[in-house]
This record gives sequence, structure tokens and C-alpha cells, in this order.
Amino acid sequence: MPTPFQFHLDATDGQARAGRFTTPHGELLTPVFAPVGTQATVKALTPAQLEEIGASLVLANTYHLYLRPGDELVAQMGGLHEFMGWPRPILTDSGGYQVFSLAERRQIDEDGVTFRSHIDGSSHHFTPEKVTAIQENLGADIIMALDECAEPYNREYNQLATARTSAWAERCLKAQKRDDQALFGIVQGGVFPDLRAQSAEFIASLGFPGHAIGGLSVGETKEEMHQMLKVVLPVLPEGKPRYLMGVGTPEDLVNAVKQGIDIFDCVLPTRLGRNKAVFLRGGERLNLRNVAFADDPNPIDEACKCYTCRHFSRAYLRHLIVAKEMLAATLLSIHNLHTLIQLATDMRQAIIKGRFEQFAQPWTGS
Ligand SMILES: [Zn+2]
Repeated sequence: MPTPFQFHLDATDGQARAGRFTTPHGELLTPVFAPVGTQATVKALTPAQLEEIGASLVLANTYHLYLRPGDELVAQMGGLHEFMGWPRPILTDSGGYQVFSLAERRQIDEDGVTFRSHIDGSSHHFTPEKVTAIQENLGADIIMALDECAEPYNREYNQLATARTSAWAERCLKAQKRDDQALFGIVQGGVFPDLRAQSAEFIASLGFPGHAIGGLSVGETKEEMHQMLKVVLPVLPEGKPRYLMGVGTPEDLVNAVKQGIDIFDCVLPTRLGRNKAVFLRGGERLNLRNVAFADDPNPIDEACKCYTCRHFSRAYLRHLIVAKEMLAATLLSIHNLHTLIQLATDMRQAIIKGRFEQFAQPWTGS
């Protein structure tokens, strides 16, 4: 099958990589951070604002779009890029994570998972074949195999979930009909090194054009997350992109890039923004509702070049928050996303210049 997907490593520094991944909607320069657009919109932001922030990849959720407005409608409207007005690369998840975290009364067996919609209680059945077909209707550039995300500390459940994730990965590959979407396999295994290694070996053997690591940042400690990356990353092929799902603090990004991760997504920057909190590049968080900012003439971050920091004081942002103005969520989300996207860009430059170790030091402390 001819593939529009090429992954090229421009430079490596230690385990850290600066790559470029070619997709039908443009090239992704890695490391890359993807804002999350759950319902085919990154909350409170227009695509033009996302472009100004420098976003190159946006994630949308299969579970949500399947339930509403429906993947067939999206296909009829020309696919997700057309529907949401985003011309650059898009990634859809498999829906698995939402089924396991949001849906009601789910029943899992070898075939797939039956669940009730969190919106209207209607009953649905997801199989590897079904989620592949849904993602083909949505039409993202990167799509994900169906996986089962177990509670990180339950060994027995992780054994079962990892076996099912392996079987489902093979079925997703067989079910794929379109050749203009890169299907990524997902590694599971909780906090158990042997299960993680087993899962990574099997998923890597299937020949996916890229690999994801799921089931992290779901309640385990940072140390455990780093430990699992140490086990999994050496097993995954170097010449293919590696995506760490759902991880998104500045500290986590730097530490994971140091170990060889290329792609990230997380709801954190936009969720924090709607909750009136911002992060600074070092990882510190400020709650702008705090009365201490009432007459603070400074921007959120003196060194930040985002639209919000170039134009507005902390005092103005706090005023918007207290007055419950919608613009607050927009301006705070712009700053938080810009911080992570700029951090990814700066890491890429540091890797290319062979200075990543030095660059990462303030976050990794080593
Ligand atoms: Zn800013």
C-alpha cells in the first residue's frame, strides 16, 4: 500500500528526537503538542486563533462525534477537516478511553464493548471494526486502534486488558480500508513493567506506521510513568513516531521528550483556562481569580509572546473572570496552549542544536 506517511528524524540528542511526520494535510514537526478539540472544536478558540498560537495537530474524540452529530453526518459534510474548518492535520482517538471513563453500564467481552450513551442513555456497541469505520468516516490523518485502558494498579485486569488490546489492534489493522490515514497501535499494561514490555513487543511487531502509549497519567505517580516509558520506548522502532496519550504539563513534556516521545495531547491547558488558571513555562500555576492580581499591571508571563501576554494585564484578565465574561476562557486558553506549543518548538530547536540536556535541566533537575 503506498503511504503518504513518512517519518524522518532531523536530529537526535541522547534519546530525544526532532522529527517530521508527513501527512495528507501537511507536515508535523516533532516534538509536537496537540490541543484537544473534543467535539470538533478546541473549546473557546477559533481555528484562526489556533493557527496564530502555532498549533499544527488537533485531536478530536471519536466517542463524542459518533454520538453527536454522528460520523456519517461528518462524512456527508466532507469529513472533519472541512466540517470544523481546520485544514491542518487531525488525530482522532479510538473512543475506547471515553467508553471506559464516561459511558454508563458498559460490558466488555472479546468482541468489543457495549455501553450506554452519557447523553441520552441509548445503547451502542464498539468493536475494532466499528471504531475503524467510524474513524474512516471522520477522516482524520492519524487514527487510533481500539484499546482497553485498565486501572493502573490492578494486575489481573491489566493482563486481560492488554491481551484484548493486542487482539483488537490486529483486527483494526485488518479492518482498515482507507490508505490515507495512519493507524497507530496502542501499548497498555498499567504500571507493570513485564506487561508493558510484552504489549510493546506485540504492538511493534504488527507494522503500524506509528505507536502510542496509553493508560498513563491516569492516577499513577510520575516516577511510575517515567519507569514505564523506560521499559516501552526501547522496544518501539526508532523510525516511527511515538505518541504519549493524555499527558500535558510542561514538566511531563520535557521528561517524556528526553526519553524519546514525539507527540502529545492533553485537555489540561484548555481545561485550566476555563477554570481561570494559567501555567507558567516552569510549570507553576497561577489562579487569576486571586485578589492579589486585582491591580497587577503585568502580563501573565513577561517572557511569553502569546496574544494574551502581548496585550493584557493580569488585572484585566482577573476583571473578566470576576465579571464572568466569555473572553476570559479564550484568553487564558490561548496563553496555556501557546506555552506548551512554544515549549515543544523550543525543545525541537534544542535537539537540533545538540543542546537538549542543558535545555531540559530546569524541568528534569538532572
Ligand atoms: Zn502568554
